[in-house]
Amino acid sequence: MAIIITDECINCGACEPECPNTAIYEGADDWRYKDGTNLSGKIILPSGEEVDSEAAQTPLSDDIYYIVPGKCTECKGFHEEPQCAAVCPVDCCVPDDNHVESEETLLNRQAFLHGE
Ligand code: SF4
Ligand code: SF4
Repeated sequence: MAIIITDECINCGACEPECPNTAIYEGADDWRYKDGTNLSGKIILPSGEEVDSEAAQTPLSDDIYYIVPGKCTECKGFHEEPQCAAVCPVDCCVPDDNHVESEETLLNRQAFLHGE
């Protein structure tokens, strides 16, 4: 499953540079599929939806750091454990019950984001 940042976040910024998928953004910042991945131009998401990987997407939070579920692989393919959760000083990076996914799905996402 993806990881979610709860409203206990103190905006310290420690998690953002640790994410191998650039799935973490500061509150109110736009996000893009392209950021930190090998994606460019028009892409077809694993869901079948077509999007522009370079288009700015609406922030998921205006106040605290947030994680884009479609970019989070729970660090699968890179690390043994979620790096955001490992560094967060207030333990507010937790499993997202609304985005429960299999290891296969997470690894496929990792390949989708970083493949050729
Ligand atoms: S679990 Fe890993 S991939 Fe997901 S947001 Fe945290 S650091 Fe990024
Ligand atoms: S490390 Fe934790 S407290 Fe700091 S910005 Fe990330 S989620 Fe928020």
